[in-house]
Amino acid sequence: MSELAYPYEAPASQALFDRAAAVTPGGVNSPVRAFRAVGGTPRFMVSGTGPYLTDADGREYVDLVCSWGPMILGHSHPEVIAAVQDAVARGTSFGTPGEGEVALAEEMAARVAPLEQVRLVSSGTEATMSAIRLARGFTRRTKVIKFAGCYHGHVDSLLAAAGSGVATFALPDTPGVTGAQAGDTVVLPYNDLDAVREAFRAHPGEIACLITEASPGNMGVVPPAAGFNQGLKDLCAEHGALYISDEVMTGFRTSRAGWFGVDGVVPDLMTFGKVMGGGFPAAAFGGRADVMAHLAPAGPVYQAGTLSGNPVATAAGLAQLRLLDDAAYAKVDAVSKRIQGLVTDALTKEGVAHTLQNASNMFSVFFTDRPVRNYEDAKAQESFRFTAFFHSLLADGVYLPPSSFESWFVSTAHDERAVQRIADALPAAARAAAEATA
Ligand SMILES: *Cc1c(COP(=O)(O)O)cnc(C)c1O
Repeated sequence: MSELAYPYEAPASQALFDRAAAVTPGGVNSPVRAFRAVGGTPRFMVSGTGPYLTDADGREYVDLVCSWGPMILGHSHPEVIAAVQDAVARGTSFGTPGEGEVALAEEMAARVAPLEQVRLVSSGTEATMSAIRLARGFTRRTKVIKFAGCYHGHVDSLLAAAGSGVATFALPDTPGVTGAQAGDTVVLPYNDLDAVREAFRAHPGEIACLITEASPGNMGVVPPAAGFNQGLKDLCAEHGALYISDEVMTGFRTSRAGWFGVDGVVPDLMTFGKVMGGGFPAAAFGGRADVMAHLAPAGPVYQAGTLSGNPVATAAGLAQLRLLDDAAYAKVDAVSKRIQGLVTDALTKEGVAHTLQNASNMFSVFFTDRPVRNYEDAKAQESFRFTAFFHSLLADGVYLPPSSFESWFVSTAHDERAVQRIADALPAAARAAAEATA
């Protein structure tokens, strides 16, 4: 990597990255953090306050990642921190039931009507893995439908994303996933109801469930076309399969009731993570009481977790959810709209072909002038322009997701000063995008 490509070097981060690489594969504990898609030195962060992150070199950034969504109140929100401190002072894990987990489940169920019963876990991956197992146990079927470009955590059967076209059996996308696991997954193009109809026809009585991101954010932001989710729900109902809405990203972010609060389509099962954990490892799955009744110890489908419902994590999540009232969402939506407008204006001014897509306050920019309706469309963008755009913003103290296939996230803490910093950094970034070459 040349100095020219990355205008601001980060020696302290680089030193940490070198140390990390000696003890951790690729130097990170989650791949996208390694900056492989954009190159350069991943910034090692040491603290966060409100809309800002500070890295090991002492530079401050306006954070447009927000820990990939969870920090919807900004970093170190005083009331969340106080709730955590209070919980920590009483002990950090008991391995017994506790009131905090009940209160968190009650708060979630009160917001999201289809959540008749909730089971807490520690990551979104665990949530989707467990929901799929439950769906298979409940229906006594094996196959799962998912969409290319939708991410549901690193569950073996759900990593399959290869193979466009209709009702093809997916090949494993990663070594370590067996053909049997991948072979039970039917991967379809997003926003294509005909493909789903055809898959149900091709596998009669075999589909246990269909899982979809409620509104996808893991191929960039690609919202469902009008009627798509309802169509999925209806096809599942018609064929005796469960409809699983993965709200790990959208849950309690896109509205008080997540994406369900936006489109009102009632799933059989739902999965949650990110915002509900308040920055701690807390996640959940839940839904229809008659389906959830199949879960141990009420029923035969086994599922468990040493740290599930952890008192510190549930205290953080509950404190965060209680602060997320209508006014908070109005604030996040408004600042998101402003930043979206600034980005479009800057890119338009430089004549950069782009499509900005949003799902309430989640948004992302695709460097293409065509609407992006699925993963194929997303891959057709000019990602090299994103790389230039990203590094220019980073150099000017704005931290974007280090990939053009990710949603950007804002918080209630993104105030006038933070927005102004973004506005100041955008013209140079747009120019860099315009001048970038493949
Ligand atoms: C982040 C995410 C997951 C995985 O959650 P982890 O906590 O990272 O395991 C699953 N589904 C969706 C839609 C996500 O955005």
